[in-house]
Amino acid sequence: MNLIFLGAPGAGKGTQAEVVCKELNIPAISTGNMLREAVKNGTKAGLAAKEFMDRGDLVPDEVVIGILKDRIAEDDAKNGFILDGFPRTVAQAEALESMGVNIDKVIEINVPDEAITARMSGRRVCEGCGNSYHIEYKPTKVEGICDACGAKVVQRIDDKPETVISRLKTYHEKTAPLKDFYAARGKLVTVEGQDKIEETSKLTLAAIKG
Ligand code: ADP
Ligand code: ZN
Repeated sequence: MNLIFLGAPGAGKGTQAEVVCKELNIPAISTGNMLREAVKNGTKAGLAAKEFMDRGDLVPDEVVIGILKDRIAEDDAKNGFILDGFPRTVAQAEALESMGVNIDKVIEINVPDEAITARMSGRRVCEGCGNSYHIEYKPTKVEGICDACGAKVVQRIDDKPETVISRLKTYHEKTAPLKDFYAARGKLVTVEGQDKIEETSKLTLAAIKG
C-alpha cells in the first residue's frame, strides 16, 4: 500500500506516520527528516537545502524529488510506504506520477491554523534519530532525552513562532492545492486531527482501511 500523509506543519502527520507504519509494516518516509539528516551530514543536497529550511521555505523541487526518488527505490519500500511531507507542491505530485508510482490513498490530517500555532511551541525533535515529540502530547520518558536512541531532544530552529506563521502561509499557497489534485483522482480522505494522538490514530487507520 502506497500512502501519502498530507497536512499543515504541526498537524501531526509525522507522528501519525510513525504509528501507522508500524501497524502496516511499511516504512514511513519523511522528506523533512531526510533533509535534516542531509544538512547534519553536510551532503550536497543538505547544503542546497539548509537556507530554505531555516527560513521555513520549501526546498526547491528538484532537490527534494531527487532525494525521494532514490529513497523509494530502496528494498524496504518495495511493499509500500507512507510519504510524510512529500509531495508538497503540484510539481512534486506530478513528478511522482511520472515516476509511475501508484498512490492508493492520500490521508489529509486537518487541524485549524490556530490550533497549530498553539501546538508548535511544544514540539521537539531528536538530534540523533529524528524521532518527534511534544512536551505535552507526546513527552519523552526522561526529560530532554530520546526514548528510542538516548540522544538529546531539542526544538527545531524552524519551529520559532515567526517561522511557523510563514510555513503555514506556504502550506496554504503551495501544498493545500494538492487536496484538489488528489480529490480529482478520487484518492483524498480527510481526517480531523484530535488533541489526543491515539484518537487521531484510530481515525487515520479507519480511513486507510475504509
Ligand atoms: P513540517 O511538516 O513540520 O513542516 P518537515 O519535517 O516535513 O516539517 O519539513 C521541514 C522542512 O523541510 C520544510 O519546512 C521544508 O523546508 C523542507 N521540506 C520537507 N519536505 C519537503 C518537500 N517535499 N518539498 C520542499 N521542502 C520540503
Ligand atoms: Zn533519537
